[in-house]
Amino acid sequence: MCPILSRENYFLTVINEANQHEVKRGSLEQGMREVLLELAESVRSNEAISDNLLHRVNHIFEQYQAVRLKVSLVSKIEDLFSDEDKVERTSQQILLHTEFVDEPDQLKRKYMEAIISLLEAIEKNTFNLQTCIHCGDWYIPYQRAKVAKFCSSNCRNRHHYIHRKIETQASL
Ligand SMILES: [Zn+2]
Repeated sequence: MCPILSRENYFLTVINEANQHEVKRGSLEQGMREVLLELAESVRSNEAISDNLLHRVNHIFEQYQAVRLKVSLVSKIEDLFSDEDKVERTSQQILLHTEFVDEPDQLKRKYMEAIISLLEAIEKNTFNLQTCIHCGDWYIPYQRAKVAKFCSSNCRNRHHYIHRKIETQASL
């Protein structure tokens, strides 16, 4: 049993808002932001993650113990089928999981969850990461769209609109 530690693809949210965060030079948060961006960059450029980068991630994990173990009771409704009727029975189960020590709005927690969610995505499968050529946001392109350049149809339309405008002005 290996619990999932983070919200799926949470790193995209954090990377795309990272330039609005105020982080102090030399702070833990700054180190976490760098590590997060370098991990994302290595996925985007399809490069192996260096020993040095892994070492820095582990160093951050040592400095900031962000998750703790927790055990909870969950009730599970079981459907028991017999020949004549359906019987519902509630049974109790324990669930061993983890939770973050800090609140979700804390910057270091945000970066930690982002780093973990990116590592979980890397661990799980190979996936693509790209940056939109219009707005610069990071996104995961759909599997089928091999040559996707935009994070959304909005950006694609906007990009083509601006280019048409520039071409029209150039021909005047
Ligand atoms: Zn975009």
